[in-house]
Amino acid sequence: MGDCAEAAGACLGIIPAALDEAPACAAAVLGDESRPYAGTVPSNTLKVAGIDLSSAGLVEAPAGAEELRLEPTRGRYERYLFAEARLAGAIVIGDKIRARAALALVGASADRADVEALPRG
Ligand SMILES: Cc1cc2nc3c(=O)[nH]c(=O)nc-3n(C[C@H](O)[C@H](O)[C@H](O)COP(=O)(O)OP(=O)(O)OC[C@H]3O[C@@H](n4cnc5c(N)ncnc54)[C@H](O)[C@@H]3O)c2cc1C
Repeated sequence: MGDCAEAAGACLGIIPAALDEAPACAAAVLGDESRPYAGTVPSNTLKVAGIDLSSAGLVEAPAGAEELRLEPTRGRYERYLFAEARLAGAIVIGDKIRARAALALVGASADRADVEALPRG
């Protein structure tokens, strides 16, 4: 598991992947193969002082995806991609609290109203 593991053709190389892989790995070591690794929504947050930038899931919109941009004002920017009735990707700049909530929603069933209702910092 972790950086040395390939799953579904990818080595993600991020901490969330290692954490998601750990239960499946531990179960397999104990002989329980009924809990396979179900994948990880890739996410990351830039750690540069003064720039709060977080991104998760898809960045490029797949065919048929709906794009939503909120608050394209100075210091704030949000871009969301919806595909197949799910929040498929999120980029949030300038609001850590909102970024944390948005990243937790990526991959889940969600629409525009769910995103607009996310808490603000
Ligand atoms: C500069 C940098 C910044 C990063 N920033 C982020 C980030 O912001 N967000 C994020 O999600 N991920 C980030 N990552 C990636 C993240 O660190 C890794 O995905 C994660 O640490 C992988 O965990 P791991 O347990 O697979 O490997 P590691 O954390 O590398 O652990 C492997 C361990 O094995 C030990 N080891 C190696 N060889 C041997 C040996 N022969 N015998 C015994 N022990 C050995 C090592 O000393 C180490 O302790 C970053 C990585 C780097 C390098």
